[in-house]
Amino acid sequence: MTEFESLLVALAAIYLVLGVVWVRRDAFVFRAHTGRRFHVAAANALVGGEEGALQWLNPLPPFGLVHVVQPFPASVSAEGVLAWTSAAYPPGERHRQADPRFFAWSDVRRVEAREKDVLVNDVRFVRTGSTRLAAHVARFVHELAKAKPAERARRIDAELERAFDGVAIADAAGRAERGSAALVPPAVGLFLLAFVATPWVDLFGDIHAQWPWLVLALFALQAWGVVALWITAGRLEKRERWKHVLQCALSPLALIRARDGLLRDQLATFAPLAVAKALLERAEFEALLAASVRDARNPALPGCPVADPRALATEADWRARIAAAAARLAPAVAEAALAPPPPLADDCVAWCARCERQYTRADSLCAGCGDRPLVRFSRKA
Ligand SMILES: [Zn+2]
Repeated sequence: MTEFESLLVALAAIYLVLGVVWVRRDAFVFRAHTGRRFHVAAANALVGGEEGALQWLNPLPPFGLVHVVQPFPASVSAEGVLAWTSAAYPPGERHRQADPRFFAWSDVRRVEAREKDVLVNDVRFVRTGSTRLAAHVARFVHELAKAKPAERARRIDAELERAFDGVAIADAAGRAERGSAALVPPAVGLFLLAFVATPWVDLFGDIHAQWPWLVLALFALQAWGVVALWITAGRLEKRERWKHVLQCALSPLALIRARDGLLRDQLATFAPLAVAKALLERAEFEALLAASVRDARNPALPGCPVADPRALATEADWRARIAAAAARLAPAVAEAALAPPPPLADDCVAWCARCERQYTRADSLCAGCGDRPLVRFSRKA
């Protein structure tokens, strides 16, 4: 292998790494390998570490769409806000929430978003998966803190209505996908230049004679891509326009993947279940909804790590509101999700109401759900 060929192999390896998204453990990754047929993966079921997980995307630039959506990162009630949410997609574990503090509304003086963090009274309150979500959470918490006490419950319901609005989600997804389509032609051009034309010339042509044309094509495609990215980012992600452009301006490989970076957070302020209903095939959405409803009704233990009764009430109230909003997406599915499953074998005597695992001893605890007590099957004699 010549030095030039080694360089091409190294570039291909870097390119494959750029085609991986890193997501928080509580997030859901919606990806379509070709066309618009989306599938979902809960990040707590993906390969990764304590803080996050990895998901591969289709490496061929004309294909592949990705949206990353995480549940609202705090529990909110008319009493206050808690930096903790019990939601964890079963049977996976709950992501680590380092500092579950509770603030009564009267104690919230200042709320601000800094990058992906939300700060309350100048101290980090929660970390989110995107700057878009952090800004949204900060705005919402600030509004609730300033609202009259009698107004707060209504504002929380209005926020949930917005987060679960299927029409707005479909509209935002369509707008983002159409709006970023201009990035595809230069990305395909750069991909073909880097991984087809250049190896071809190296193997079958004379790279020493033909390199000026390749370099000229590289500059032309790179300039086209950067201009397209500047315009697209201005439409979809104006706040982070410079960041997107600077990340890609000097790297053709990053520019090929620029669409992923722009698309991934476009639906970040919506509820994952409502996004699932808008993007997924019906059976996949219903399976996700059923498992999420079971988790909301029977969370992994501890359901709330803060002993303050106001924090406990806030966690329970928020969980009930989320469960009710989720159930409205498909009431029959949500109701059926809570019914006992048929026993898998004659010696199965109990099941876990969160993860549906079945047990042969009714006095066992479900370790995967934080030692949750089991529910006994009622059998006809
Ligand atoms: Zn369980």
